[in-house]
Amino acid sequence: MASPDRQEQEMTSEQRLEEAIDAAARLVVASKHVVALVGAGHSVESGIPPFRGPDGLWTKYGEPDMLGYQRFMRDPKKWWEETLSGTGPMRELFDALAQARPNAGHYALAELEQLGQLQHIITQNIDNLHQEAGSTAITEIHGSRVKLRCIACTTRWPADEFAIEEVPPKCPQCGGMVKTDTVLFGEPIPPDALTECIRQTSMCDCMLLVGTSGVVYPAAGFPQDVRMGGGQLIELNPNETALTPLCGIIVRASAATCLPMLVGRVRQLTAA
Ligand SMILES: [Zn+2]
Repeated sequence: MASPDRQEQEMTSEQRLEEAIDAAARLVVASKHVVALVGAGHSVESGIPPFRGPDGLWTKYGEPDMLGYQRFMRDPKKWWEETLSGTGPMRELFDALAQARPNAGHYALAELEQLGQLQHIITQNIDNLHQEAGSTAITEIHGSRVKLRCIACTTRWPADEFAIEEVPPKCPQCGGMVKTDTVLFGEPIPPDALTECIRQTSMCDCMLLVGTSGVVYPAAGFPQDVRMGGGQLIELNPNETALTPLCGIIVRASAATCLPMLVGRVRQLTAA
């Protein structure tokens, strides 16, 4: 008797997923300014371990202290020497980042942008995978692993085009100190990125929450601002999060599974 019951349950959850995708697609099409807020969960299927959760790096190695930026500011020369020598506890993450390729979810978001149905991506990921997949309207709130940034004037350069002749490197524009663009623990969010996130959030009437745990601020505050402004939230995440109670539509699947389904449905709706 157990197996027919189970079969019925599985069919029901599949149907539930399709219904949620349909509702999400209709809302996306009906909205004027759709923003995707992306977290580490999106890149797990690209081989990048998340920080939190069962297989998270912090779970394995312990949560790092919040002094990363303080250590940089105290001795930038030493910090740069360590960074260039490629040692330290983040080795596993850097190795995974170097190998990572966009997954089906990244390509789906790029297609959604091309269809004119996604206006912006705010990503907490530093992995550059949205760019590799073809997305163009992106704010990297925690910086990018492939860029360097002047901490004084926020000018950024592709890391492989910036010749490091001394450490710490100096900004050719203003003489300020240059570090990796990736935001360190304890480092303020770069003001230009934060301003753009706030601008995008203020225009947003529909936010997709993709693979974000909703516990890291300021990013976790943006969905709350959208709700307060009368906008709608769609959660696309295999797991329940701190933001789930705020979401009108909940799609319980991974990014690589549900985003291509969403784009497929959006294409059907807009072609009709
Ligand atoms: Zn500068």
